[in-house]
Amino acid sequence: MSDLSFNVNTSKDPSLENNKMINKETHKYIYHFGKNQTDGDASMKQLLGSKGSNLAEMSRLGLPVPPGFTLSTKLCHLFYKENQNLPESIKNSIKKSIESLEIELGKKFNDPNNPLLISVRSGAPISMPGMMDTILNLGLNEKTVEGLSQLFQNPRFAWDSYRRFIQMYSDVVMGMNSSLLETHLEDYKNQKNYTSDTQLTATDWKNVITYFKESILQCTGKVFPEDPWNQLWESIKAIFNSWNNPRAVIYRKMQGETSCLGTAVNIQSMVFGNRGNDCATGVIFTRNPSTGEKSIFGEFLINAQGEDVVAGIRTPQMILNTNGNSEKDLKNLMPNSFDELSNLCNKLEKHYKYVQDIEFTIEKNKLWLLQTRNAKCSSIAQLKIIFDLIEEGLLTEKEALTKIDPFSLNKLLHPSIDEKDKKVILTKGLPASPGGAIGKIVFNNQRAVELQKQGLSVILVRTETSPEDINGMISSQGILTARGGMTSHAAVVARSMGKPCIVGCGSLHINEINKELKIKDKLLREGDEITIDGSTGEVLLGVIQTKTPKLDENFFKLMKLSDKYTKLEVRANADTSSDAKKAKEFGATGIGLCRTEHMFFASNRINIMRKMILADNSDERQEALNELFVMQKKDFHELLDIMDGCPVTIRLLDPPLHEFLPCTKEDIKKLSENLHWSEDKISTKVNLLKESNPMLGHRGCRLAITFPEIYLMQTKALSEAYAELKLQNKNPQAEIMIPLVSFSKELKFLRKIIKEQIQNREEKLKTKIPIPIGTMIELPRTCLQANAIAEEADFFSFGTNDLTQTTLGISRDDAGKFLSSYINQKLFSKDPFSSVDKEGVGELIKLAINRGRLKKANLKMGICGEHGGDPESIQFFHDINLDYVSCSPYRVPIARLSAAQSAINKEREEG
Ligand code: PEP
Ligand code: MG
Repeated sequence: MSDLSFNVNTSKDPSLENNKMINKETHKYIYHFGKNQTDGDASMKQLLGSKGSNLAEMSRLGLPVPPGFTLSTKLCHLFYKENQNLPESIKNSIKKSIESLEIELGKKFNDPNNPLLISVRSGAPISMPGMMDTILNLGLNEKTVEGLSQLFQNPRFAWDSYRRFIQMYSDVVMGMNSSLLETHLEDYKNQKNYTSDTQLTATDWKNVITYFKESILQCTGKVFPEDPWNQLWESIKAIFNSWNNPRAVIYRKMQGETSCLGTAVNIQSMVFGNRGNDCATGVIFTRNPSTGEKSIFGEFLINAQGEDVVAGIRTPQMILNTNGNSEKDLKNLMPNSFDELSNLCNKLEKHYKYVQDIEFTIEKNKLWLLQTRNAKCSSIAQLKIIFDLIEEGLLTEKEALTKIDPFSLNKLLHPSIDEKDKKVILTKGLPASPGGAIGKIVFNNQRAVELQKQGLSVILVRTETSPEDINGMISSQGILTARGGMTSHAAVVARSMGKPCIVGCGSLHINEINKELKIKDKLLREGDEITIDGSTGEVLLGVIQTKTPKLDENFFKLMKLSDKYTKLEVRANADTSSDAKKAKEFGATGIGLCRTEHMFFASNRINIMRKMILADNSDERQEALNELFVMQKKDFHELLDIMDGCPVTIRLLDPPLHEFLPCTKEDIKKLSENLHWSEDKISTKVNLLKESNPMLGHRGCRLAITFPEIYLMQTKALSEAYAELKLQNKNPQAEIMIPLVSFSKELKFLRKIIKEQIQNREEKLKTKIPIPIGTMIELPRTCLQANAIAEEADFFSFGTNDLTQTTLGISRDDAGKFLSSYINQKLFSKDPFSSVDKEGVGELIKLAINRGRLKKANLKMGICGEHGGDPESIQFFHDINLDYVSCSPYRVPIARLSAAQSAINKEREEG
């Protein structure tokens, strides 16, 4: 099976929002499940964890669940409040719950003749596969193991169970390195020439246990505990503590999950799949999680317990083998249990309205269910399953749409890295643009272009990128930078290109001169191969296999279905014809942001741009502008043509001019040769244009107020492109957008000269050129003055990148260096440059919408910052009644699904 990490959407899981249950019974910490007494149900996930709530739900359905009880997440909070201790009153309640199990099962905890054995397993409200802990067969010691052996007349089973308990307990509770005991076991098997665990006899297990206990004493300095009560208290504590073990913390961070949920602990009476050949344990999916096919799929092992199936100790057998070799499948070996299991699969799938992943045990031909949960499926499978479930009448279209995590569409859009192949992780940065890329390291543009021309794949490694790096970025498979945040140049451009990118990777030490990269103590040189995983931020040594996705029919069906329920329009941020084509292919309804500055960085244009910037007088400047005009008109013509009939918002030049200028001596020399100007003259001008805070300097509309000819050239180019297309009977829909406006007077001034320029073209070309003129809202003052601004604007587009930067006073280019500390210290739950800061930036946007619409009720408003592609932000933008979001082309499918989910969620909330 491959690629099983396609998640069901849990962010909108209604049961996680159900806090009523928590508040109702404030002093209840223990919830029973089983045939005799069930206190919980599936809606209580936040309190009982996913495992606990589903055990309760299955019990309610009358399914065969071994009885037990769940210690709630509220107890986990109490445990931390009590300095990681279990209060005596709680211990007494747990003892009472054990007593009720004893009565129900006719066994006794710590009874040497008839011992009750239990499992202790963690179970968080969110799914954290493999991240948390499990202890089986608790209650065994030197005495009870003998009792168990007698009781079942099966010493081998009893000692096998005991050694399993020792292995798990010493790992989870005593901090013993579990691989050490595994090695002892392997050595023992080798000595005896055994190939399988099932060959070990009771005596063998006793010998192994003696080694185990000696080794535990040696490594931990502690004797393995004999007292079952002591074993129980320590196990519960260990599980509660496991919520904060490094594995779990990292996993939650990776998934963007909050740490305040806590874990529940499930204490359940043991059933045994290791009592002989009429016993088994296994995992079954109600449909094939790789292909989505409607056929049960799973594996099992005879005479085995717990993790054996996934641990790979023996090769598991198929539950249903459809490839001819069915002698060893469960259907053939245990037909009754198979039939019962298939029926239960059906029942559970119907009940949960989703494909289930079920753990089961068969003890002496009696089937028990130990867990059920929504299955993680491959991306292709999930889409197939969703549409099948709609067709089968199990899900409504709306329910189906909200089952999918929008980000999991990334797996369909970008090559993904084979998790199993990830060997050496060199370091980690911010996952700025998803997907996997492999290539040889290069440190500058020129080398990227050269090597790519030789047919080699490269990864561009830079301290940070600037617009000048565009050619290198185009030539690379992926981009890795030491600095920058989620809205830095590298992040924004890579996302728009759909290229994997990692930014803000602080542990990279780049020596561009020597063409060396040091990551911790590893030295890499130009040409060395690395792999980057832009979905996780991991930088990996060498070549790791990637899987190229293909868009199947169900993907397009999903997009169409999303549009049926969407209110928000989804446009794309696109500056090139290839971006625009991608945007169209992914169903964007227009271009919400064309950053025209990106059009001037091509190698055949940059020097003309520089000539314009460095010009001594207006004649010289005009000469360069005339050259740029020809190119710009062609660009606009292409974009409007591709997007025929759809709006294309052209943002006039925004960045500070020095971004276009050479920074190194070498580049200045090259430019001087090209322009036939002295190096001194260029250096002086470059220095003159340098700014201390360029993001707050001479940029955006301020450029046009001092040099109107730039915007006038752009307006002329757009007007003429528009008129030409009209002549060809096309339907261009151009819009002009002015960046970084703070004062309505700025907008009034520029709008007047732009309008005059359009009129001038209308008169010259004798045609109407109706181009609306709107503004970006990306400064707090602009939000506050939105009423006055609205008077001068035909539309608003919120630039949430700059608005976040200026509202929070945090530099979008430097945030990568310190935001992770904020997230680690739980000061921020998410990077505000990725997911909109609702209380700050969001409030300003709301205020601007209200004030703007007070002036012009139908003023069109959208957002074109990077947040336009973030599902959580999209929900917010939907809720505050924006008309559209605009995001990078590869985010368009994610945004379309998120927009539909937002509408459905809002509708549910309202009623
Ligand atoms: C913004 O500020 O949100 C925006 C879209 O503009 P840019 O990222 O180009 O500054
Ligand atoms: Mg901006």
